[in-house]
Amino acid sequence: MLESKTFCIMPWVHFHVTQYGTVTPCCQAPWEEANTFGNINQQSINEIWQGEKIKQFRKTILSGGVDKRCESCFKKEKEGFTSLREITNSKYQHKFELALSANKLGEIGNTPPIYFDIRFSNVCNLRCRMCGPWSSSSWFNDAVQLGMIKEDADALTYAFKNKVGFFEQFENLIDSLEELYFAGGEPIMMEEHYELLHLLIKHNKTDVQLTYNTNFSSFNVKHHDIFELWKQFKSIVLAASLDASEKRGEFLRKNLNWNEVITNRQYIQKELPHIEFVISCTLNCYNILHLPDFHKDWTQQQLIQVEDFIPSLLIKPKELSVTILPKKIKEDAILKYVEHLEWINTIQSVHIEKRNYMIQQFKNIIKVLELNKDKHDVELFRKNSAAMDKIRGEKTRDVFPELAELFQ
Ligand code: SF4
Repeated sequence: MLESKTFCIMPWVHFHVTQYGTVTPCCQAPWEEANTFGNINQQSINEIWQGEKIKQFRKTILSGGVDKRCESCFKKEKEGFTSLREITNSKYQHKFELALSANKLGEIGNTPPIYFDIRFSNVCNLRCRMCGPWSSSSWFNDAVQLGMIKEDADALTYAFKNKVGFFEQFENLIDSLEELYFAGGEPIMMEEHYELLHLLIKHNKTDVQLTYNTNFSSFNVKHHDIFELWKQFKSIVLAASLDASEKRGEFLRKNLNWNEVITNRQYIQKELPHIEFVISCTLNCYNILHLPDFHKDWTQQQLIQVEDFIPSLLIKPKELSVTILPKKIKEDAILKYVEHLEWINTIQSVHIEKRNYMIQQFKNIIKVLELNKDKHDVELFRKNSAAMDKIRGEKTRDVFPELAELFQ
């Protein structure tokens, strides 16, 4: 199964609720109602988990087929990148027997989901250039001014109409729980996230793996003390969505305060050393020439080990993809990334597997730049970037002088 080019363990272990209340195969699959397994506001967890739609999905996988909702994983793999399918298969190998013993109808018996990813809402304090109103409530005004949404639309999106009902069902499944994945919006801002942590503590389930995708900007939320709560959990992974440092970082992730990012990182290093910290950065046309410097800088400041850095390519919106860039910038970037790999080779690593994965990601970035060297399509980027600059009172070219070519 690990070697299979199509198998995915997700529908035997994973339950993903979007910020719209729909349940989809995972966070990589499309959100639209037609593509979902159900809606948590209309059905129970068990009804969806045992439902015909997820059974059909399991059946397709068991027959060696590929569901159209999984396009993003297979596209990534074709381009040489590691997909969520591969990561999850590797992590949940100990659950392969569930699929091996499954009947051809895709039924799962009484086995509940053990790995939840619940997007409670789109609440977020930042308005990142690469994001939009569907994932950040703070994006609302920008989106109205850009004509993306109407003024009378809702800024906030909540997954649950009846939160209590969901929590009651969840509590019944807590004994078999192995992992909770929190992302956003910004999970640290979400009240429901704290309620789940308290529920785990109440049930002595502090061995559950907590995995976060966080913008790492603010840990002071109302009366909650997240650091004290985290001290009670054995296994925590924080993947910080940071794509650039200082003024570039603050520009890309608007409302971010870089000094607070550094302070937060230093505090966690000192007070919560059991937390596994990794920078999960999105390579886009803004940060392409800066990213290696950011990685080097944090490694040299000993804020991370060299291998605690996972670059991945932004795919949407496509006008922010590195593939739109002029040939000269791509050539400069290729040289820079080749040099960066040479630098990485001079640094000792603690975790060889993680290091190899990171090196492979950098190599794949070089490959994508090489393959797309002669393509360029900067018009939409320039138009959108100028519109956003106007709304936010910013000047992209002043923050990223290395991209002068992009604006000529
Ligand atoms: S193949 Fe990819 S998109 Fe499909 S369920 Fe698995 S992880 Fe999700």
